[in-house]
Amino acid sequence: MREILHVQGGQCGNQIGSKFWEVICDEHGVDPTGRYNGDSADLQLERINVYYNEASGGRYVPRAVLMDLEPGTMDSIRSGPYGQIFRPDNFVFGQSGAGNNWAKGHYTEGAELIDAVLDVVRKEAENCDCLQGFQVCHSLGGGTGSGMGTLLISKIREEYPDRMMLTFSVFPSPKVSDTVVEPYNATLSVHQLVENADECMVLDNEALYDICFRTLKLSTPSFGDLNHLISATMSGVTCSLRFPGQLNSDLRKLAVNLIPFPRLHFFMVGFAPLTSRGSQQYISLTVPELTQQMWDAKNMMCAADPRHGRYLTASAMFRGKMSTKEVDEQILNVQNKNSSYFVEWIPNNVKSSVCDIPPTGIKMASTFVGNSTSIQEMFRRVSEQFTAMFRRKAFLHWYTGEGMDEMEFTEAESNMNDLVAEYQQYQDATAAEEGEYEDEEEEVYES
Ligand code: GDP
Repeated sequence: MREILHVQGGQCGNQIGSKFWEVICDEHGVDPTGRYNGDSADLQLERINVYYNEASGGRYVPRAVLMDLEPGTMDSIRSGPYGQIFRPDNFVFGQSGAGNNWAKGHYTEGAELIDAVLDVVRKEAENCDCLQGFQVCHSLGGGTGSGMGTLLISKIREEYPDRMMLTFSVFPSPKVSDTVVEPYNATLSVHQLVENADECMVLDNEALYDICFRTLKLSTPSFGDLNHLISATMSGVTCSLRFPGQLNSDLRKLAVNLIPFPRLHFFMVGFAPLTSRGSQQYISLTVPELTQQMWDAKNMMCAADPRHGRYLTASAMFRGKMSTKEVDEQILNVQNKNSSYFVEWIPNNVKSSVCDIPPTGIKMASTFVGNSTSIQEMFRRVSEQFTAMFRRKAFLHWYTGEGMDEMEFTEAESNMNDLVAEYQQYQDATAAEEGEYEDEEEEVYES
């Protein structure tokens, strides 16, 4: 068995993480007491060990560690519908809070609690037969999930250098914002994620808000509404890891298919059909409709338009009973009609697959994971917000007061700008650049 160890941190991380567990418990037929209560044991249980430990009495326990610098969110998870399913020892929390300050999460308050978290992580890892890697749920705009989350990621990388690290990272948007310093926290986090994570699923609150407002017609979207979209997406993205199948069946295969250059591991994810909470039973789509929607910019959980860039790679995962042949035809059709949006120097860069088990409540659904150069639009947005404040050193004293050096801000800023430039470089690259051939000829003459 190739197990995954899940960690959720901070308010947002704990909220989206606990929703994820509710959704996948439901899909695998695991009830809130951890007992199997499903109707197709062969499919639901075949790979249950990827995410769950089996405890005595045949109970399934999430291989999950919950951390926070304040007790509130974890208290409400514990008293929520699936609160009893988690291992009580795996709740690790402090009392101080991080005050939306990345430095507190990464260097001071979080650093004090990190060893307690690592002890639990180590214990879970030791219980695994063959751990494939970790997944971390967090927001980048606050202090705990962001600062302490990236501290944990770097500690795990140090201790388990050959295991995969997947993140579900919620990017901040002023449309759903708590505080003005979120671009600082996000940029400092991206700096870490570029170096220490293998694959990042980008969940951009700006896009989630727009989907709720424009497509789902919710006039004042709540975190609950945003998190409904996130949990559907997380379920879709992890489907190939949890159920039997061929494509992207583990974290490493997913990475191999999607990442042509190691730093460019930030993925746009899309989902179809989009539904608001409680309305899904009315929606039923055909394979062509699902295909059309999943590639649509309006369905992307990241505020960037794929038509402004090109796909390096992409993966389309369908769920439900449908014809594989029809899926293949539809995907081919998308590629042929939009060939200019796929880099031609990576042949066969779109993969598709079908998983028999649909999400609960719908007959068919599809999830899209793309490595698009257009994601630079989101990084540019955060970068502009960062630079506007950093130019005047606004709010910096909150960070230097925790012992941080201004230098780290400068480095984070340039690392993110470099990332944007790298996306642009591959967006502009063609299969055979004239310049390259000329250079080669020159070399031949010289030698
Ligand atoms: P932390 O507890 O210190 O990690 O701070 P938060 O997780 O509250 O981080 C604040 C950022 O997360 C802001 O950008 C918020 O908009 C966002 N956020 C907080 N809670 C949620 C949530 O439940 N869902 C979503 N999508 N975003 C959230």
